[in-house]
Amino acid sequence: MAVERTHKITLIPGDGIGPEVTAAVVKIVEIAGAATGVGFEWHRFAAGAEAFEQTREYIPQALYDSIEQNRVALKGPVTTPVGGGFASINVTLRKKFDLYANFRPVKNLPGLATKYPDIDLVIVRENTEDLYAGLEHEIVPGVVQSLKIITDKGSTRIAQFAFDYARKHGRKKIHAIHKANIMKLSDGLFLRCCRRVGEGFPEVEYKEHIVDNTCMQLVLNPYQYDILLTENLYGDILSDLCSAFIGGLGLVPGANLGRECAIFEAVHGSAPDIAGKDMANPTALLQSAVLMLHHIDERAAAEMVQNAIEQVYREGKTLTRDVGGQSGTRAFADAVLEAMASSTAAK
Ligand code: NAD
Repeated sequence: MAVERTHKITLIPGDGIGPEVTAAVVKIVEIAGAATGVGFEWHRFAAGAEAFEQTREYIPQALYDSIEQNRVALKGPVTTPVGGGFASINVTLRKKFDLYANFRPVKNLPGLATKYPDIDLVIVRENTEDLYAGLEHEIVPGVVQSLKIITDKGSTRIAQFAFDYARKHGRKKIHAIHKANIMKLSDGLFLRCCRRVGEGFPEVEYKEHIVDNTCMQLVLNPYQYDILLTENLYGDILSDLCSAFIGGLGLVPGANLGRECAIFEAVHGSAPDIAGKDMANPTALLQSAVLMLHHIDERAAAEMVQNAIEQVYREGKTLTRDVGGQSGTRAFADAVLEAMASSTAAK
């Protein structure tokens, strides 16, 4: 099909398993685009340690400029040093572009048996505040303070995002997750904002759960939840927990959304334990790309990719090891491409 329109997308392959999963995803998205009249111009940038080697900057200015111009980025994971070293590239980008809403749908794939079938949860996580402000200092040797920043503005807009999403998509229930029994001021403010916004949405049931209880409740009965509305840190932890319901981190996509720009990336990190071994599951980044295609209004391409992913899982013959298969990253990607080709041929 002739290319009718072209999208410029900033591409950050990342490190660890990032380049492997990104290569698979770009290939699949390009083929889906070609079949639906959509072209892509990828503006590719390194970030983190690799970028520093090349440019002496962890996030090159050219990368900032590219995201500002294109307004849409697809990003692989970037390793963050533990207990020292440079600040998280992920957190820095989210703050720089004020990508305040981290949207993470957790949904079973057809044919993939898990302990919890029919999970359909959405995590809406505040993405710019909380302990991720990274404001830490040593008061005296042996005493360190880390500041948790929660604001009325940040809490109100993430609550607004969650309730708007619920209304638009017919979701029934929102749980605000907190620890306001201990952090009475910060989490207390977060809850007051959620309650205030919730008053404008009488059709959406609003509840509050303390975060530690939420972990137990999720494992006992995740079906009692619909949308989890959280501050930054609780959302991060609950995302990994919830990913296990549907088969693990190899599957869960994510979007970092702001008023001007959006960066699409999987929930998982750079997985150094399996990097470079053709073992990584590209599904999470691929489903992030599906979210991206919807975001840029390329619904036909989005549906083509999502249907192909689901067909591969339904058949269950070419799955990666993290979900019980024997295949590698490339073989899985080839199976998705084949599923797309056969769906196009059938039309
Ligand atoms: P991780 O998500 O990288 O890995 C956790 C476990 O899940 C590992 O056993 C890994 O092999 C497995 N896993 C993750 N993604 C997978 C995939 N696609 N297919 C198959 N298995 C997969 O978490 P971690 O080990 O805690 O973090 C590693 C690094 O990633 C750290 O430097 C961390 O800061 C960084 N990180 C980056 C991002 C991001 O770029 N957005 C997010 C989380 C962690």
